[in-house]
Amino acid sequence: MRLLRGRGGWWYVGRAGTALLPGALVSGGRLTPEGVRQVAAAGIDRVPAPEHYSLTVVTSTACNLGCPYCFQNTPDGARRITPAKLDARGVAACVEFTETRMAELGARRLELLLFGGEPLLNPAACVALLHAFGERMPTTASMVSNGVLLTPRRAVELAGAGLRDVQITLDGPRPRHDSVRATRGGRSTFDTILSNVAIAQRDTALRFTMRVNVTPENLPELPELLDQAAAVLDPGRTRLALAPVLDYGRGLAVPGEHAAERAVDAYALAVRLGFRLVRPRDTHCDFCSETAGRLGAVVGPDGTLFSCWDAVGEPDLAVGTLAGGYDPDPGPRWRRCGGPEPSAGAFTDAVDAGVLDLIRATAGREVTSR
Ligand code: SF4
Repeated sequence: MRLLRGRGGWWYVGRAGTALLPGALVSGGRLTPEGVRQVAAAGIDRVPAPEHYSLTVVTSTACNLGCPYCFQNTPDGARRITPAKLDARGVAACVEFTETRMAELGARRLELLLFGGEPLLNPAACVALLHAFGERMPTTASMVSNGVLLTPRRAVELAGAGLRDVQITLDGPRPRHDSVRATRGGRSTFDTILSNVAIAQRDTALRFTMRVNVTPENLPELPELLDQAAAVLDPGRTRLALAPVLDYGRGLAVPGEHAAERAVDAYALAVRLGFRLVRPRDTHCDFCSETAGRLGAVVGPDGTLFSCWDAVGEPDLAVGTLAGGYDPDPGPRWRRCGGPEPSAGAFTDAVDAGVLDLIRATAGREVTSR
């Protein structure tokens, strides 16, 4: 659960819901005994019985971009992760593993995420996974992509195979984005991504989340980015997600709490422009909150299991295999998500409180992440 200080009190974000609590129910950043009683009576701290299983599959560890903060890249620009692609045998192994885990859990529905590197460097595996799981079980499928390879034909193919949601990333207005998220050959990507998403919004039912990795440099430029995006995209079918940059290599500064107000202002502008918000969630993660992958698994292209997205592709952080199951004692190899920078948490908390205030003030503009 999370307790976030909002404008009108404290937001309690639990597994089963969110409530705005009066200040008298919180003391020293913790619930008072009466607060505990009221939260329990409302049922928002209840841990729901698992009804879905979460599976992230890396279809390609390689990527066509070279973002400096990426966990794929070392500070000198060398590759950290060996390029690998999921093949047909890997798809079959993912299905067999998942069916067994879902039966053990009693889950009836799968939440499938196609991940990378860049998953669309291996589109055949993306389509094969969507078909294989969609034919066997109720599946909600999403993808994290940089958006450059999401051509109009590819978008139609993926949507037809069952893909529902796509998260792309724009790291600032055109010049800022292109200075960070260029191809490995140095080509700009901003206009390609926006054009691909706009055409996909026209031709398919795909839903999009526009993520921005926030840094002190791009924070003042968010209004310009939103104006540029709103001119091309359908804001009513686009969710905005601002996140502190998780810097794995270059020592980029993470925005501190003082920057949160600016980020909330950007969310308010986004609402005025017609973009959707994502309701903040508690800290639970289907992949890494519980060991041994009870509620979900992260699978590399060669069938290696990892505890969470942050660990993907790093051989030293492998915690098992599809064929052999989980290591019963992974120790520190069981990495939990959230990135290496603790101060990012204060920024996220302050921004999420602001988002909840905004959702309250503009009832009905938000969509949940599922
Ligand atoms: S697009 Fe994603 S996977 Fe590719 S380099 Fe950038 S952050 Fe890394």
